[in-house]
Amino acid sequence: MARFTPKIRAMARQSLVDRDVEFIEGYRVKEVTTGRITLDSGESHDVDLIFLALGVKPSAIFASSGLAMGPDGGLLVNRFLQCPAYPELFGGGDCISFAEHPLDKVGVYAVRENPILFQNLMAALENQALMPFDPGGNYLLIFNLGEGMGIFKKSWLTFGGRTAFTIKDWIDRRFMKKFQAMEK
Ligand SMILES: Cc1cc2nc3c(=O)[nH]c(=O)nc-3n(C[C@H](O)[C@H](O)[C@H](O)COP(=O)(O)OP(=O)(O)OC[C@H]3O[C@@H](n4cnc5c(N)ncnc54)[C@H](O)[C@@H]3O)c2cc1C
Repeated sequence: MARFTPKIRAMARQSLVDRDVEFIEGYRVKEVTTGRITLDSGESHDVDLIFLALGVKPSAIFASSGLAMGPDGGLLVNRFLQCPAYPELFGGGDCISFAEHPLDKVGVYAVRENPILFQNLMAALENQALMPFDPGGNYLLIFNLGEGMGIFKKSWLTFGGRTAFTIKDWIDRRFMKKFQAMEK
């Protein structure tokens, strides 16, 4: 949660504290064995379940292929979502590093990039002009905290609670319905 505001972090933290989650901070995990984790302080803890939440990293395939990468190890693409050194290669979603400015690894961008990606792949095949990708402004972010609760963030507006989750649920269900309709 490091990239979020103290208010958002506090709400997420409280949601876990309310469910008796204990925080042990300031250490790195040194070793994971069955039923036990050991921290770099030497302290170890018995565990029932290990759930890793380390963030998204693009595949190592780009590093081993010698293609140009961005700082996050993603395939470096220009504003046409195109690999500059190999113009026949295009990319979108979590695996790219957008040269213009870094983009969060969220589905919002993958979805916004899709039509441009399709358009540019077709244009490249037909020697037509490519269309630049515009990431758009601040996107709406809603965390699902479980038990019908959420955290809402859009530009300067942040709030937590049931309304936040209800909005997310409505948006997500409406989005998924599009694809259910396609399968009929
Ligand atoms: C639990 C969770 C909840 C999320 N909730 C949201 C949300 O509410 N809103 C939001 O905007 N974003 C959300 N995200 C982020 C969002 O899911 C991703 O940003 C989005 O799916 C990225 O799309 P993508 O097509 O780039 O990659 P993916 O959807 O990850 O698709 C990549 C595909 O490539 C396949 N693949 C991988 N390696 C290979 C290989 N070597 N060969 C062939 N195929 C391969 C994978 O199996 C996968 O099917 C969430 C992510 C997670 C994990």
